[in-house]
Amino acid sequence: MDLGIEGKRALVCASSKGLGLACARALAAEGVNLIMNARGAEALSDESNAIKTEFGVAVETVPCDVTSMQGQKQLIEVAQGVDILVNNAGGPPPGMWTDWQRDDFVKALDANMLAPIALMSALLPRMIDKGWGRVVNITSQSVKSPIAALGLSNSARAGLTGYVAGTSRQVAPMGVCINNLLPGSHATARIDALDKGTSDKSGITFEEARAARQSTIPVGRDGNPKDFGAMCAFLCSQYANFMVGQNVLLDGGNVNATI
Ligand code: NAP
Repeated sequence: MDLGIEGKRALVCASSKGLGLACARALAAEGVNLIMNARGAEALSDESNAIKTEFGVAVETVPCDVTSMQGQKQLIEVAQGVDILVNNAGGPPPGMWTDWQRDDFVKALDANMLAPIALMSALLPRMIDKGWGRVVNITSQSVKSPIAALGLSNSARAGLTGYVAGTSRQVAPMGVCINNLLPGSHATARIDALDKGTSDKSGITFEEARAARQSTIPVGRDGNPKDFGAMCAFLCSQYANFMVGQNVLLDGGNVNATI
């Protein structure tokens, strides 16, 4: 299937590893030129070079912290006029409700709500001028079914989801589609860190923590980031022109809900 986005230009935030990288690679495979971002310059440079070689697309890199205002300024300067924006950042740490103070919430809101909103605010106007644009926000299954230990994430992502629900309807008449992509457990460094956290806290091995968690997923395993990237590319495609403000869950059936 030709997704019809060859030659478009995309900013993919937090894309040197994991789900962001998978989205960048899937877009590059469709002939999309990229702006990639992460804080660590080395992995970013390695992965961007690999993508250029493998897919023959143009790739610019912006090493910065997407959650900081300075980082957002840098990204916005380079990314003016992009057709596609994929918002992503690291997730907040797990804990108990008693652990979290105001500063922890501010940090989580900056990373997982206000950073994507700042980038949308800055980059939507040119998409609207062109009459075509796609935004995919990587959020989490926790938007539909809370993960108790990820209260910071649950809170911040709920805020972003509310913003997208309204804004996506305001920009849809101008050919711009904003949707959210909700990962369940995927095989990335993030899930390794969460399993290690469970293991350290519960006195069980890493493997036991992983097996216990995976046994709760109907497909019995973690998702493959490559499949996640392919869904992201579809949401950025010409065929996603009738999808507005949706929350697309990729979780192996983990969220036990009828709708
Ligand atoms: P990951 O494997 O740890 O990769 C995170 C990527 O984001 C890296 O490239 C990292 O590079 C970059 N990054 C992190 N913080 C950044 C920042 N402040 N500014 C710029 N780049 C940053 O994580 P992942 O599993 O792909 O997760 C991506 C998002 O999906 C997270 O928000 C996570 O909470 C959410 N999620 C993941 C899962 C899962 O199972 N994997 C499930 C639900 C939700 P640097 O460290 O060099 O900056």
